[in-house]
Amino acid sequence: MQSRWPLGVFSSIDAGFGVQLEVAHELGVPTIQLHAPQHGSRTRERAADFLQRVTDLGITITCVFAGFEGESYADIPTVNRTVGLVPTATRASRAKEFKEIADFAAMLQVAAVGLHLGFVPHEPDDPQYAELVQLTREICKHCLGNSQAVHLETGQEPADVLLRFIEEVASENLFINFDPANMILYGCGEPIEALEKVGKYVHSVHCKDATWSDEPGITWGQEVALGEGAVNFPRYLQSLDALGYDGPLTIEREISQEPERQKAEIGQAVQLLEKLKAEFNSS
Ligand code: MG
Repeated sequence: MQSRWPLGVFSSIDAGFGVQLEVAHELGVPTIQLHAPQHGSRTRERAADFLQRVTDLGITITCVFAGFEGESYADIPTVNRTVGLVPTATRASRAKEFKEIADFAAMLQVAAVGLHLGFVPHEPDDPQYAELVQLTREICKHCLGNSQAVHLETGQEPADVLLRFIEEVASENLFINFDPANMILYGCGEPIEALEKVGKYVHSVHCKDATWSDEPGITWGQEVALGEGAVNFPRYLQSLDALGYDGPLTIEREISQEPERQKAEIGQAVQLLEKLKAEFNSS
């Protein structure tokens, strides 16, 4: 059995995002979350090949993260307009694609599919709210057919809004991928406080760090190397421990256009988290 809090990183099948499997292996990282590949790569053959590669390296895929053509994280208004299942023009086609990604994850024997839903309206009487609740039930039902969970990434709404949304959907396989840095980047609340509020739904987590914006919620904060931002990682682990969370700690540092820097920063993050874990286990 794997020990508590195995470290993880993001990787991908298509080139481009995350770190290469060999780099993960070299850094001694035993798990990955996988960026879902493009349509043309979501074949049974590619799944079998990739599964063989990870198995040979002793790596476990813990979650497949869906992403869609046309999404942009350029600034907060652009995220609002382009990300996830919220934009109405692409909602139906993306919901269909999400189900295809879930089926591909099933070929990889992965039991969790993550996504950024987008900006859920904060007011339940917004007409879009009921539609999103219904659509989320539908994708959860599809995943349940694959014995999979759906993990919603945090950040685009405060903890209370996310909590109310999940309880409204009321699907047995709907959970949260908690990202403390996103709470800061989007100006959606203190991460530890948010984690404690939504904790019972947290089934996977990202380890990412960020600094606050001067105008939280209006402009981005800044993503920084783990340990250099406003996330208090010792407290983060304390809270995860108190919640009984023992799943992977997936390091997210999306600077794959600078592979050397990415490898160095992820290497430092691995060391820092291993040190914190060791302190924890000996206290
Ligand atoms: Mg994240």
